Amino acid sequence: MTGGAVDRISLPDISLPDISLADISLPEAIRPSDGRFGSGPSRVPHEAVAALAEAADGYLGTSHRRAGVRSVVGRLRTGFAELFSLPAGWEVVLGNGGATGLWDCLGFGLIRRRSQHLAFGEFSAKFARAVQAAPHLEAPQIIEAPFGTHPEPVAAEVDVYALTHNETSTGVQLPLRRPPGVAAADGLVATDATSAAGGLRWDPAEVDVYYFSPQKCFAADGGLWVACCSPAALERIAEIGASGRWCPPTLSLPLAVKNSAADQTYNTPALATIFLTLQTVEWMCANGGLEWAAGRCDASAATVYGWAEASEYAEPFVAVPAQRSHTVATIDIDAEVADANQIAAALRANGIVDTESYRALGRNQLRIALFPAIPPDDVAALCACIDHITARLQSPQ
Ligand SMILES: *Cc1c(COP(=O)(O)O)cnc(C)c1O
Repeated sequence: MTGGAVDRISLPDISLPDISLADISLPEAIRPSDGRFGSGPSRVPHEAVAALAEAADGYLGTSHRRAGVRSVVGRLRTGFAELFSLPAGWEVVLGNGGATGLWDCLGFGLIRRRSQHLAFGEFSAKFARAVQAAPHLEAPQIIEAPFGTHPEPVAAEVDVYALTHNETSTGVQLPLRRPPGVAAADGLVATDATSAAGGLRWDPAEVDVYYFSPQKCFAADGGLWVACCSPAALERIAEIGASGRWCPPTLSLPLAVKNSAADQTYNTPALATIFLTLQTVEWMCANGGLEWAAGRCDASAATVYGWAEASEYAEPFVAVPAQRSHTVATIDIDAEVADANQIAAALRANGIVDTESYRALGRNQLRIALFPAIPPDDVAALCACIDHITARLQSPQ
Protein backbone atom coordinates (compact mmCIF):
# COMPACT_ATOMS: atom_id res chain seq x y z
CA MET A 1 0.00 0.00 0.00
CA THR A 2 1.77 3.14 -1.22
CA GLY A 3 -0.35 5.50 0.92
CA GLY A 4 0.87 3.79 4.10
CA ALA A 5 4.47 3.89 2.96
CA VAL A 6 4.29 7.63 2.26
CA ASP A 7 2.78 8.22 5.73
CA ARG A 8 5.63 6.38 7.37
CA ILE A 9 8.28 8.31 5.53
CA SER A 10 6.76 11.68 6.36
CA LEU A 11 6.47 10.99 10.11
CA PRO A 12 9.14 12.39 12.44
CA ASP A 13 11.44 9.53 13.42
CA ILE A 14 10.95 9.72 17.21
CA SER A 15 9.38 6.26 17.25
CA LEU A 16 8.71 3.53 14.77
CA PRO A 17 5.25 3.99 13.35
CA ASP A 18 2.89 1.04 13.78
CA ILE A 19 3.02 -1.21 10.81
CA SER A 20 -0.35 -1.71 9.27
CA LEU A 21 -1.10 -5.41 9.55
CA ALA A 22 -2.63 -5.30 6.12
CA ASP A 23 0.80 -4.25 4.84
CA ILE A 24 2.26 -7.64 5.74
CA SER A 25 1.60 -9.60 2.64
CA LEU A 26 2.58 -13.25 2.76
CA PRO A 27 4.47 -14.50 -0.29
CA GLU A 28 2.33 -16.84 -2.35
CA ALA A 29 4.95 -19.59 -2.17
CA ILE A 30 4.76 -20.04 1.60
CA ARG A 31 0.98 -19.92 2.03
CA PRO A 32 -1.03 -23.01 3.01
CA SER A 33 -3.42 -24.46 0.44
CA ASP A 34 -6.36 -23.30 2.58
CA GLY A 35 -6.49 -20.65 5.27
CA ARG A 36 -8.84 -22.27 7.76
CA PHE A 37 -7.12 -23.37 10.99
CA GLY A 38 -9.97 -22.89 13.47
CA SER A 39 -10.66 -25.44 16.19
CA GLY A 40 -14.36 -25.54 15.45
CA PRO A 41 -16.16 -24.93 13.23
CA SER A 42 -13.17 -26.21 11.33
CA ARG A 43 -12.09 -26.47 7.71
CA VAL A 44 -14.63 -28.25 5.51
CA PRO A 45 -12.88 -29.71 2.43
CA HIS A 46 -13.93 -28.36 -0.96
CA GLU A 47 -14.46 -31.97 -2.12
CA ALA A 48 -17.07 -32.56 0.58
CA VAL A 49 -18.95 -29.37 -0.30
CA ALA A 50 -18.84 -30.30 -3.98
CA ALA A 51 -20.18 -33.78 -3.19
CA LEU A 52 -23.02 -32.19 -1.22
CA ALA A 53 -23.82 -29.84 -4.10
CA GLU A 54 -23.88 -32.78 -6.48
CA ALA A 55 -26.14 -34.86 -4.25
CA ALA A 56 -28.29 -31.89 -3.25
CA ASP A 57 -31.31 -32.34 -5.49
CA GLY A 58 -32.00 -35.85 -4.30
CA TYR A 59 -31.09 -35.17 -0.69
CA LEU A 60 -31.38 -31.62 0.67
CA GLY A 61 -35.01 -30.67 1.11
CA THR A 62 -36.21 -34.24 1.36
CA SER A 63 -37.80 -35.98 4.34
CA HIS A 64 -35.58 -37.25 7.11
CA ARG A 65 -38.16 -39.99 7.67
CA ARG A 66 -37.64 -41.42 4.15
CA ALA A 67 -35.03 -43.74 2.70
CA GLY A 68 -33.02 -41.00 0.93
CA VAL A 69 -31.90 -39.43 4.19
CA ARG A 70 -32.26 -42.47 6.45
CA SER A 71 -29.85 -44.44 4.30
CA VAL A 72 -27.26 -41.69 4.78
CA VAL A 73 -27.84 -41.73 8.56
CA GLY A 74 -27.53 -45.53 8.46
CA ARG A 75 -24.21 -45.29 6.61
CA LEU A 76 -23.03 -42.75 9.13
CA ARG A 77 -23.87 -45.02 12.08
CA THR A 78 -22.17 -47.99 10.42
CA GLY A 79 -19.23 -45.79 9.45
CA PHE A 80 -18.61 -44.68 13.05
CA ALA A 81 -18.86 -48.29 14.26
CA GLU A 82 -16.20 -49.26 11.70
CA LEU A 83 -13.96 -46.24 12.29
CA PHE A 84 -13.91 -46.78 16.06
CA SER A 85 -13.98 -50.61 15.89
CA LEU A 86 -16.96 -50.61 18.23
CA PRO A 87 -17.55 -54.03 19.82
CA ALA A 88 -20.84 -55.88 19.31
CA GLY A 89 -23.67 -54.43 21.37
CA TRP A 90 -22.55 -50.80 21.07
CA GLU A 91 -24.96 -48.32 19.47
CA VAL A 92 -24.24 -45.10 17.63
CA VAL A 93 -26.88 -42.63 18.87
CA LEU A 94 -27.57 -39.25 17.25
CA GLY A 95 -29.44 -36.15 18.32
CA ASN A 96 -29.71 -32.40 17.87
CA GLY A 97 -28.00 -29.79 19.97
CA GLY A 98 -24.30 -30.58 19.71
CA ALA A 99 -22.12 -31.75 22.58
CA THR A 100 -23.42 -28.91 24.75
CA GLY A 101 -26.96 -30.18 24.26
CA LEU A 102 -25.85 -33.70 25.03
CA TRP A 103 -24.46 -32.56 28.41
CA ASP A 104 -28.04 -31.78 29.41
CA CYS A 105 -29.19 -35.17 28.07
CA LEU A 106 -26.53 -36.89 30.19
CA GLY A 107 -27.66 -34.98 33.26
CA PHE A 108 -31.18 -36.22 32.73
CA GLY A 109 -30.54 -39.67 31.38
CA LEU A 110 -27.11 -41.09 32.28
CA ILE A 111 -26.15 -39.74 35.70
CA ARG A 112 -28.11 -41.66 38.29
CA ARG A 113 -27.13 -39.69 41.37
CA ARG A 114 -23.65 -38.23 41.27
CA SER A 115 -20.85 -37.73 38.76
CA GLN A 116 -17.14 -37.01 38.88
CA HIS A 117 -15.72 -34.43 36.47
CA LEU A 118 -12.16 -33.79 35.45
CA ALA A 119 -12.18 -30.02 34.91
CA PHE A 120 -9.09 -28.75 33.11
CA GLY A 121 -10.37 -26.15 30.71
CA GLU A 122 -13.40 -24.28 29.48
CA PHE A 123 -15.38 -27.21 28.05
CA SER A 124 -14.84 -29.75 30.82
CA ALA A 125 -15.68 -27.07 33.41
CA LYS A 126 -18.84 -26.11 31.53
CA PHE A 127 -20.25 -29.64 31.70
CA ALA A 128 -19.44 -29.76 35.42
CA ARG A 129 -21.31 -26.47 35.95
CA ALA A 130 -24.35 -27.75 34.04
CA VAL A 131 -24.51 -30.80 36.29
CA GLN A 132 -23.92 -28.67 39.39
CA ALA A 133 -27.04 -26.68 38.58
CA ALA A 134 -29.30 -29.73 38.07
CA PRO A 135 -31.69 -29.89 41.02
CA HIS A 136 -32.31 -33.63 40.71
CA LEU A 137 -28.63 -34.58 41.06
CA GLU A 138 -26.21 -34.48 43.97
CA ALA A 139 -23.38 -31.97 43.79
CA PRO A 140 -20.78 -33.46 41.44
CA GLN A 141 -17.23 -34.19 42.49
CA ILE A 142 -15.00 -31.87 40.47
CA ILE A 143 -11.29 -32.59 40.18
CA GLU A 144 -9.40 -29.64 38.75
CA ALA A 145 -5.93 -29.20 37.35
CA PRO A 146 -4.13 -26.05 36.24
CA PHE A 147 -4.73 -25.05 32.62
CA GLY A 148 -2.19 -26.75 30.40
CA THR A 149 -2.28 -30.02 32.39
CA HIS A 150 -4.91 -32.65 33.19
CA PRO A 151 -6.03 -34.42 36.36
CA GLU A 152 -6.62 -38.19 36.63
CA PRO A 153 -9.92 -39.85 37.49
CA VAL A 154 -10.02 -41.56 40.89
CA ALA A 155 -12.37 -44.22 42.23
CA ALA A 156 -15.20 -42.53 44.15
CA GLU A 157 -18.84 -42.84 45.20
CA VAL A 158 -20.11 -41.73 41.82
CA ASP A 159 -21.98 -43.46 39.00
CA VAL A 160 -20.53 -41.52 36.04
CA TYR A 161 -16.94 -40.41 35.42
CA ALA A 162 -16.95 -37.46 33.02
CA LEU A 163 -13.72 -37.25 31.03
CA THR A 164 -12.66 -35.02 28.14
CA HIS A 165 -10.47 -36.64 25.50
CA ASN A 166 -9.11 -33.33 24.31
CA GLU A 167 -9.57 -30.01 26.12
CA THR A 168 -10.02 -27.74 23.11
CA SER A 169 -9.50 -24.54 25.09
CA THR A 170 -6.02 -25.45 26.35
CA GLY A 171 -4.75 -28.03 23.86
CA VAL A 172 -4.35 -30.83 26.41
CA GLN A 173 -5.16 -34.45 25.54
CA LEU A 174 -6.12 -37.03 28.14
CA PRO A 175 -5.49 -40.75 27.61
CA LEU A 176 -8.79 -42.54 28.16
CA ARG A 177 -8.62 -45.07 30.97
CA ARG A 178 -11.15 -46.21 33.52
CA PRO A 179 -10.24 -45.04 37.01
CA PRO A 180 -8.13 -47.76 38.66
CA GLY A 181 -10.28 -50.49 40.18
CA VAL A 182 -13.55 -49.24 38.70
CA ALA A 183 -15.54 -51.49 36.33
CA ALA A 184 -18.37 -50.22 34.13
CA ALA A 185 -20.84 -51.77 36.55
CA ASP A 186 -19.51 -49.44 39.29
CA GLY A 187 -19.33 -46.25 37.28
CA LEU A 188 -19.73 -45.42 33.60
CA VAL A 189 -17.04 -43.49 31.79
CA ALA A 190 -18.59 -40.77 29.62
CA THR A 191 -16.08 -38.95 27.45
CA ASP A 192 -16.49 -35.65 25.67
CA ALA A 193 -14.43 -36.31 22.56
CA THR A 194 -15.67 -33.35 20.54
CA SER A 195 -12.26 -32.17 19.32
CA ALA A 196 -10.65 -35.63 19.55
CA ALA A 197 -13.00 -38.09 17.89
CA GLY A 198 -11.54 -39.10 14.55
CA GLY A 199 -8.11 -37.68 15.38
CA LEU A 200 -7.00 -39.43 18.57
CA ARG A 201 -6.87 -43.16 19.34
CA TRP A 202 -9.01 -44.70 22.07
CA ASP A 203 -10.01 -48.13 23.28
CA PRO A 204 -13.74 -48.86 23.65
CA ALA A 205 -12.89 -51.17 26.58
CA GLU A 206 -12.04 -48.04 28.61
CA VAL A 207 -15.16 -46.00 27.80
CA ASP A 208 -18.96 -46.34 27.94
CA VAL A 209 -20.13 -43.20 26.17
CA TYR A 210 -17.86 -41.57 23.58
CA TYR A 211 -19.57 -38.42 22.34
CA PHE A 212 -18.84 -35.47 20.11
CA SER A 213 -20.08 -32.83 17.69
CA PRO A 214 -19.02 -33.18 14.04
CA GLN A 215 -17.65 -29.68 13.32
CA LYS A 216 -14.12 -30.45 14.54
CA CYS A 217 -12.22 -33.59 13.41
CA PHE A 218 -15.13 -34.61 11.20
CA ALA A 219 -14.92 -31.41 9.16
CA ALA A 220 -18.69 -30.93 9.01
CA ASP A 221 -21.08 -28.28 10.25
CA GLY A 222 -22.37 -28.18 13.83
CA GLY A 223 -25.73 -28.82 15.42
CA LEU A 224 -25.58 -32.58 15.78
CA TRP A 225 -24.36 -34.77 18.63
CA VAL A 226 -23.12 -38.32 18.22
CA ALA A 227 -22.80 -40.68 21.18
CA CYS A 228 -21.25 -44.14 20.84
CA CYS A 229 -22.82 -46.10 23.71
CA SER A 230 -21.62 -49.35 25.29
CA PRO A 231 -24.11 -52.02 26.41
CA ALA A 232 -23.61 -50.84 30.01
CA ALA A 233 -24.46 -47.27 28.99
CA LEU A 234 -27.56 -48.41 27.08
CA GLU A 235 -28.66 -50.35 30.14
CA ARG A 236 -28.24 -47.27 32.34
CA ILE A 237 -30.20 -45.13 29.87
CA ALA A 238 -33.05 -47.65 29.91
CA GLU A 239 -32.93 -47.90 33.71
CA ILE A 240 -33.21 -44.15 34.30
CA GLY A 241 -35.78 -43.85 31.50
CA ALA A 242 -37.98 -46.36 33.33
CA SER A 243 -37.46 -44.74 36.74
CA GLY A 244 -40.09 -42.06 36.26
CA ARG A 245 -37.61 -39.15 36.40
CA TRP A 246 -39.04 -36.26 34.40
CA CYS A 247 -37.11 -35.33 31.27
CA PRO A 248 -37.93 -32.90 28.43
CA PRO A 249 -38.44 -35.03 25.29
CA THR A 250 -35.75 -33.17 23.29
CA LEU A 251 -33.23 -34.21 25.96
CA SER A 252 -34.44 -37.78 26.32
CA LEU A 253 -31.76 -40.38 25.70
CA PRO A 254 -34.27 -43.26 25.46
CA LEU A 255 -36.05 -41.36 22.66
CA ALA A 256 -32.71 -40.68 20.95
CA VAL A 257 -31.70 -44.35 21.21
CA LYS A 258 -35.04 -45.44 19.78
CA ASN A 259 -34.95 -43.00 16.86
CA SER A 260 -31.30 -43.71 16.07
CA ALA A 261 -32.01 -47.44 15.85
CA ALA A 262 -34.36 -46.49 13.00
CA ASP A 263 -31.69 -44.23 11.44
CA GLN A 264 -33.59 -41.12 12.46
CA THR A 265 -33.48 -38.35 15.03
CA TYR A 266 -36.29 -37.35 17.37
CA ASN A 267 -36.77 -34.05 15.54
CA THR A 268 -35.48 -32.72 12.24
CA PRO A 269 -31.68 -32.68 11.92
CA ALA A 270 -29.53 -30.52 9.63
CA LEU A 271 -29.22 -32.74 6.58
CA ALA A 272 -26.09 -31.01 5.27
CA THR A 273 -24.30 -31.67 8.57
CA ILE A 274 -25.09 -35.37 8.35
CA PHE A 275 -23.92 -35.54 4.74
CA LEU A 276 -20.65 -33.69 5.39
CA THR A 277 -19.90 -35.84 8.43
CA LEU A 278 -20.40 -38.98 6.38
CA GLN A 279 -18.01 -37.67 3.73
CA THR A 280 -15.26 -37.41 6.33
CA VAL A 281 -16.02 -40.73 8.05
CA GLU A 282 -15.99 -42.63 4.75
CA TRP A 283 -12.86 -40.77 3.63
CA MET A 284 -11.12 -41.88 6.83
CA CYS A 285 -12.34 -45.48 6.55
CA ALA A 286 -11.31 -45.73 2.89
CA ASN A 287 -7.77 -44.54 3.70
CA GLY A 288 -6.98 -46.77 6.63
CA GLY A 289 -9.39 -45.83 9.41
CA LEU A 290 -8.68 -44.20 12.74
CA GLU A 291 -5.03 -45.27 12.74
CA TRP A 292 -4.50 -43.42 9.47
CA ALA A 293 -6.44 -40.32 10.54
CA ALA A 294 -4.62 -40.20 13.89
CA GLY A 295 -1.34 -40.62 12.01
CA ARG A 296 -2.06 -37.44 10.05
CA CYS A 297 -2.65 -35.59 13.32
CA ASP A 298 0.60 -37.07 14.73
CA ALA A 299 2.48 -35.73 11.72
CA SER A 300 0.97 -32.25 12.10
CA ALA A 301 1.67 -32.28 15.83
CA ALA A 302 5.32 -33.26 15.26
CA THR A 303 5.61 -30.36 12.82
CA VAL A 304 4.05 -27.63 14.94
CA TYR A 305 5.59 -28.61 18.29
CA GLY A 306 8.95 -29.26 16.65
CA TRP A 307 8.81 -25.82 15.05
CA ALA A 308 7.85 -24.15 18.33
CA GLU A 309 10.58 -25.91 20.30
CA ALA A 310 13.19 -24.87 17.78
CA SER A 311 11.87 -21.31 17.64
CA GLU A 312 13.43 -18.39 19.48
CA TYR A 313 10.07 -16.83 20.25
CA ALA A 314 7.47 -19.62 20.32
CA GLU A 315 7.02 -22.60 22.64
CA PRO A 316 4.35 -25.21 23.28
CA PHE A 317 2.02 -24.02 26.06
CA VAL A 318 1.60 -27.58 27.41
CA ALA A 319 4.80 -28.47 29.24
CA VAL A 320 4.48 -32.27 29.31
CA PRO A 321 4.97 -33.60 25.77
CA ALA A 322 2.56 -36.54 26.24
CA GLN A 323 -0.20 -34.13 27.23
CA ARG A 324 0.23 -31.94 24.13
CA SER A 325 -2.81 -32.39 21.94
CA HIS A 326 -2.38 -33.89 18.50
CA THR A 327 -5.62 -32.25 17.32
CA VAL A 328 -5.42 -28.71 18.76
CA ALA A 329 -2.03 -27.08 19.37
CA THR A 330 -1.58 -24.14 21.72
CA ILE A 331 1.61 -22.16 21.15
CA ASP A 332 2.80 -19.42 23.48
CA ILE A 333 4.52 -16.44 21.90
CA ASP A 334 7.25 -14.51 23.72
CA ALA A 335 5.55 -11.19 24.51
CA GLU A 336 8.89 -9.39 24.24
CA VAL A 337 9.03 -10.40 20.61
CA ALA A 338 5.46 -10.16 19.36
CA ASP A 339 1.83 -9.80 20.30
CA ALA A 340 0.06 -13.05 19.38
CA ASN A 341 -3.12 -11.12 18.62
CA GLN A 342 -1.18 -9.07 16.06
CA ILE A 343 0.19 -12.22 14.48
CA ALA A 344 -3.31 -13.69 14.31
CA ALA A 345 -4.65 -10.43 12.87
CA ALA A 346 -1.93 -10.30 10.21
CA LEU A 347 -2.64 -13.93 9.33
CA ARG A 348 -6.32 -13.05 9.09
CA ALA A 349 -5.54 -10.12 6.81
CA ASN A 350 -3.92 -12.72 4.55
CA GLY A 351 -6.91 -15.04 4.61
CA ILE A 352 -5.50 -17.39 7.28
CA VAL A 353 -8.16 -17.40 9.95
CA ASP A 354 -9.06 -18.49 13.48
CA THR A 355 -5.60 -18.91 14.97
CA GLU A 356 -6.53 -16.72 17.95
CA SER A 357 -6.14 -18.38 21.35
CA TYR A 358 -9.12 -19.36 23.45
CA ARG A 359 -10.28 -15.99 24.77
CA ALA A 360 -10.75 -16.97 28.42
CA LEU A 361 -7.23 -18.37 28.68
CA GLY A 362 -5.81 -14.85 28.47
CA ARG A 363 -2.36 -15.83 27.20
CA ASN A 364 -0.10 -14.45 24.48
CA GLN A 365 -0.90 -17.49 22.43
CA LEU A 366 -1.94 -18.94 19.09
CA ARG A 367 -4.22 -21.96 18.81
CA ILE A 368 -3.95 -24.11 15.71
CA ALA A 369 -6.24 -26.98 14.69
CA LEU A 370 -4.41 -30.12 13.53
CA PHE A 371 -7.54 -32.01 12.50
CA PRO A 372 -7.26 -34.85 9.96
CA ALA A 373 -8.81 -32.77 7.15
CA ILE A 374 -5.97 -30.24 7.48
CA PRO A 375 -3.01 -31.62 5.50
CA PRO A 376 0.21 -31.77 7.57
CA ASP A 377 1.90 -29.74 4.79
CA ASP A 378 -0.51 -26.89 5.50
CA VAL A 379 0.51 -26.91 9.14
CA ALA A 380 4.15 -26.64 8.07
CA ALA A 381 3.23 -23.77 5.76
CA LEU A 382 1.40 -22.00 8.59
CA CYS A 383 4.51 -22.19 10.76
CA ALA A 384 6.50 -20.53 7.97
CA CYS A 385 3.84 -17.83 7.67
CA ILE A 386 3.99 -17.13 11.40
CA ASP A 387 7.78 -16.79 11.17
CA HIS A 388 7.43 -14.42 8.23
CA ILE A 389 4.90 -12.21 10.02
CA THR A 390 6.81 -12.17 13.28
CA ALA A 391 9.98 -11.09 11.49
CA ARG A 392 8.06 -8.29 9.79
CA LEU A 393 6.44 -7.18 13.07
CA GLN A 394 9.91 -6.92 14.61
CA SER A 395 11.37 -4.89 11.79
CA PRO A 396 8.55 -3.21 9.88
CA GLN A 397 10.77 -1.91 7.07
C1 LIG B 1 -16.51 -27.58 20.71
C2 LIG B 1 -16.61 -28.38 21.97
C3 LIG B 1 -17.81 -28.52 22.66
C4 LIG B 1 -19.06 -27.80 22.25
O1 LIG B 1 -19.58 -28.30 21.07
P1 LIG B 1 -20.96 -27.71 20.53
O2 LIG B 1 -21.21 -28.48 19.28
O3 LIG B 1 -20.75 -26.25 20.31
O4 LIG B 1 -21.98 -27.97 21.58
C5 LIG B 1 -17.82 -29.32 23.77
N1 LIG B 1 -16.72 -29.95 24.19
C6 LIG B 1 -15.54 -29.83 23.57
C7 LIG B 1 -14.36 -30.56 24.09
C8 LIG B 1 -15.45 -29.05 22.43
O5 LIG B 1 -14.28 -28.93 21.80
